[in-house]
Amino acid sequence: MVGKINSLRAIPKIDDLLKDDKMIAATTAHGNAVVVDCARACVNKLRDQLLSRTQIEPFDEEQLLAEIETQIRQETQLHLRPVINGTGIILHTNLGRAVLSEAAAQAAYEVATNYSTLEYDWITGERGSRYSHVDFLLEKLCGCEAAMVVNNNAAAVLLVLSTMAKNKEVVISRGELVEIGGSFRVPEVMAQSGAILVEVGSTNKTKKADYVKAIVSDKTGALLKVHTSNYKIMGFTEAVSLAELAEIGKNNNIPVIYDLGSGGFFKLAESLLGDEPNVFESMKSGADIICFSGDKLLGGPQAGIIIGNKKYIEAMKKNPLTRALRVDKMTLAALEATLRLYLDTEKAQKEIPLLSQLSITKEMLFEKAQKFVALLKQFSSLTTEIVEENGQVGGGAMPNQMIPSVCVILKVNGLSANALDQKFNQAEIPIIGRIRKDQYLLDMRTIKSREFEMISKTIEKLLV
Ligand SMILES: *Cc1c(COP(=O)(O)O)cnc(C)c1O
Repeated sequence: MVGKINSLRAIPKIDDLLKDDKMIAATTAHGNAVVVDCARACVNKLRDQLLSRTQIEPFDEEQLLAEIETQIRQETQLHLRPVINGTGIILHTNLGRAVLSEAAAQAAYEVATNYSTLEYDWITGERGSRYSHVDFLLEKLCGCEAAMVVNNNAAAVLLVLSTMAKNKEVVISRGELVEIGGSFRVPEVMAQSGAILVEVGSTNKTKKADYVKAIVSDKTGALLKVHTSNYKIMGFTEAVSLAELAEIGKNNNIPVIYDLGSGGFFKLAESLLGDEPNVFESMKSGADIICFSGDKLLGGPQAGIIIGNKKYIEAMKKNPLTRALRVDKMTLAALEATLRLYLDTEKAQKEIPLLSQLSITKEMLFEKAQKFVALLKQFSSLTTEIVEENGQVGGGAMPNQMIPSVCVILKVNGLSANALDQKFNQAEIPIIGRIRKDQYLLDMRTIKSREFEMISKTIEKLLV
């Protein structure tokens, strides 16, 4: 059967192609319809190519079958699937932010594949609350009076403002009217919530008196502080601290809301998280309500966590918006498991990928790089070099803090850095690296050791 196809008549019939062992295996795995569709598409493409060319190129059947196989793989693989993160950015927004711990993933799997106690109180046999699975943990870990969870932090800010300040004025510093990730802008979320924005101070300086002057007793609904997670103002600056703002709030009987966004979750991480504000400390500063993301520096699933004064949390639970922003059972399961890890700080640091990645030392990274390079020695057309580089936390957190890291430069004979990047992107398990000064780099901090073998396999395929 195998031979050069150099005329239209020589193109095999679909039925004959399907008799090939590889096609039979593909049919067993994926069903007849997709295999026939892919075979037809590839045959049509070949026919068009033969028709449109003056000079007919030889094309053999093995090649046609390989193309059909590739097409079948592309059609049947999941669109949302794992990649290997070689960027060194731990919370990469485009690559799904925080990687869950095994415990969190397992908990999500269990409630996804079974009925669960989502809204069932197994002690009384009555209807329960979906927030009851995490609120006691948050109260313990954050030192708050009450807590609830919604879909993400953007939803949290919307719900908080809508509940506490609808049709009322919310006072915020001009230095904190931030945009996070393109679609979350504080002024726009404020408008959606029905609260009225009152800007005070200037971009670089806001003083206590600015807030005090803006307060009008029956018009002001809240004072809002937003953590400028993804940028820093340096130099001639002045800001009012959360504790100072809380004091102004208390003196005027107006609640203080803090959108912490990506704040560090617990104290142990302070050494790793630089000067990022911390949830526990922020709660102690006297804010009435604090909200933050579950999948940033907490290292859990996407979620918006709201903690603080019980009176306000209870009102939020009754807000009709809550139903639209509701958190689902898999998220709650993963969040509960993540929070339980934090009850034992050593365990948290070992098992929550964000924290373990942050705490890998440079020596450990060098060791990892050497193992990787040793594995790649088998490829003669590949050269490697270990270099020190800077990585970042990402996810709109710690913008000016670089984390020293170790990278491996990969150079494949005859391929530019861009070409290698493109090929790696299109691999069965895409490998995402970074290019610096025309060199292709893989950062050891965000690559798992068990992924080395997968990368090696991809290189092997690419070089043949
Ligand atoms: C990230 C962030 C948000 C948005 O949170 P999501 O979980 O991405 O919805 C809002 N506010 C601040 C300050 C943030 O850092």
